[in-house]
Amino acid sequence: AAPVTATKLNTKRSEQIFKEAQDLLPGGVNSPVRAFKSVGGQPIVFDHVKGAYCWDADENKYIDYVGSWGPAIVGHANDEVNEALKAQIEKGTSFGAPCALENVLAKMVIERVPSVEMVRFVNSGTEACLSVVRLMRAYTGREKLIKFTGCYHGHADQFLVQAGSGVLTLGLSDSPGVPATTAAATLTAKYNDLESVKALFEANKGEIAGLILEPVVGNSGFIPPTKEFLQGLRDLCTQEGAVLVFDEVMTGFRIAKGCAQEHFGVTPDLTTMGKVIGGGLPVGAYGGKREIMQMVAPSGPMYQAGTLSGNPLAMVAGIKTLEILARPGAYEHLDKVTSRLIKGILDAGKEAGHAMCGSSISGMFGFFFCEGPVSSFEDAKDADTVKFGKFHRGMLEHGVYLAPSQFEAGFTSLAHTEADIDATIEAARSVLKSLE
Ligand code: PLP
Repeated sequence: AAPVTATKLNTKRSEQIFKEAQDLLPGGVNSPVRAFKSVGGQPIVFDHVKGAYCWDADENKYIDYVGSWGPAIVGHANDEVNEALKAQIEKGTSFGAPCALENVLAKMVIERVPSVEMVRFVNSGTEACLSVVRLMRAYTGREKLIKFTGCYHGHADQFLVQAGSGVLTLGLSDSPGVPATTAAATLTAKYNDLESVKALFEANKGEIAGLILEPVVGNSGFIPPTKEFLQGLRDLCTQEGAVLVFDEVMTGFRIAKGCAQEHFGVTPDLTTMGKVIGGGLPVGAYGGKREIMQMVAPSGPMYQAGTLSGNPLAMVAGIKTLEILARPGAYEHLDKVTSRLIKGILDAGKEAGHAMCGSSISGMFGFFFCEGPVSSFEDAKDADTVKFGKFHRGMLEHGVYLAPSQFEAGFTSLAHTEADIDATIEAARSVLKSLE
């Protein structure tokens, strides 16, 4: 477990590497939230990872609650996943032709995820989400899309309308470069507010192709849905002939073996997946009802393709990861450590007199520096981001690596032990005491 005594971090090497990167990469990074813009200070440059831990370029060790933003659910650099990857490397990493491993992973997904009867593998969550919007449009012959404020579905044009994650963290509204006509076809509603969705359906009768949402929000902080909200969306979409999509890129195989749709007992028409399904390699997927999926080329007319899609290396990482997650006790472990963690952090906040709220489901959690409850992005905006920034820095100095934004969820893994959790809570107690 990480040391709980506060140390002024030595981040000299991180600073040097990041300084050089700023000359080479826009903002010094290849994905915006990594730049620590919203928490201030320099980003930590990683050197290596193992299990529940990461080590930076200055040899500082942290208990990691980012897990590469979700994929590392069986622990970083898991031995079994690594062995499977090494064996596959010898046989080739990319075929650009069918291989049996695609069937193995497809069967695992179809068996587990209630909505999925057929699946198409792609290379990222963004790709899965943009493909699914084309598919819902092709299937219904309609163009408009409903999403929720603060939800993030990747960086494709049609999603950069009141989006969460990095867009929210950087305080951006809509990105320049998105055609106005594309943005105009994306309508936004308020999360956990069925009436706001009904109003959009009424004002756009017969024009809504479908609705996409994070079934548990992780991209404006962690915000669970009510079961009634999800069921209400299901009923509305059925009634209006619109396609319901659960974006399970973050929640897939993390909230439960059968994803959030199994946990809440609400089945969408289509599902997007990413992160965990690639076990640390770039994989995304979309799947759903056979009748809709058969519209995808070459079985149907909706075009979507990929040079590296379904490559054997990525398939092997996904197969091994899902295999480990199917073992008895896996989700119980995630639930146990994560609920202990969030309870400990909230209790420590209360003891220190801070307004805080938060919760967890299985291996996904989040907390806000505000009284709460937070049931939408609009509520999340009340959170004290300056205080979060100080808390984040303090936790780094105590050997704990949290997502560098108030508006991101946290993740645990099968490698996190109760001792890790207790060390984290002790660190939080000490940092929270010292925060104004
Ligand atoms: N959808 C959700 C819910 C996500 O959290 C993310 C990424 O964080 C994406 C889509 C985009 O996935 P990727 O970053 O793999 O393109």
